[in-house]
Amino acid sequence: MPLETLTTIPELRERLLPARRAGKSVGLVPTMGYLHRGHAALVDRARADNDVVVTSVFVNPLQFGPNEDFARYPRDLDADRRLLAAHGADIVFAPSVEEMYPRPIVTHVEVESLSGRMEGERRPGHFRGVATVVGKLFNIAQPDRAYFGEKDYQQLQVIRRMVADLSFPLEIVGVPTVRDVDGVALSSRNVYLSPAERAAAPVLGRSLAAAADAIAAGAVDPRDIEAAIRGVLAAEPLAEPDLVAVAAADTLEPVDPKAPPPAIALMIAVRIGHTRLIDQRVVAVP
Ligand code: AMP
Repeated sequence: MPLETLTTIPELRERLLPARRAGKSVGLVPTMGYLHRGHAALVDRARADNDVVVTSVFVNPLQFGPNEDFARYPRDLDADRRLLAAHGADIVFAPSVEEMYPRPIVTHVEVESLSGRMEGERRPGHFRGVATVVGKLFNIAQPDRAYFGEKDYQQLQVIRRMVADLSFPLEIVGVPTVRDVDGVALSSRNVYLSPAERAAAPVLGRSLAAAADAIAAGAVDPRDIEAAIRGVLAAEPLAEPDLVAVAAADTLEPVDPKAPPPAIALMIAVRIGHTRLIDQRVVAVP
């Protein structure tokens, strides 16, 4: 079946209704487009699990702050369609902003506590925008399963909590981060990097590896773990740490060294030039 491109909510609902009535399962992969092998891993997983695979491509203005890159966020729907066809997606849902938000949206999904901390403190309103658009996409596509990357680890936990709290009838599947050969997490924003900046980017993964080594060697105090990350980042002159967060992997609560969790999530955001890159790693506590 060739890839279908749908741009309106009624079209997508009409297309999915007979499939759902026939008892077919629907998998949804929400994205902002400019797709790469990281997104492809989500599509592959959705393809393996479901009868019908829908990928949404929508750069969601709600989740961008006033000084962020909404206007210049990279877009290339033709290239996205080629990648999605090659990975066997059935439908790309690519609505306009007017289709999704025909009037100013006044109803939001706020996942309290989880949304305001760490990345949420750096980007106020970001997770509210994410949860709102993802909840809306869930209502539009009514998927049986939806796929999210672990790269955006806090986002994954916010969505899991939203689904549990509001009883959305679907399963959330987390997919491990896909990396380039030098360890840099694939990201649509990597195109912003100059060659020198791209050469500096592996420092993110190296800093997480140093923290993982420290945890393996017995470190459980979040200050020590954070210091291991910051020590590696400090050696790269082009890297400016914006967020270094250490939290219990399942709850994202602060790590108590006297009662360490079974696994620790490391989440970082680093500015390299004008580009803000993020990376993440979950490390089991020995
Ligand atoms: P985005 O288009 O950046 O909003 O990402 C759409 C989805 O793809 C999110 O669930 C991301 O976590 C996921 N994703 C982005 N980059 C990667 C990657 N390198 N590996 C795995 N998943 C990714």
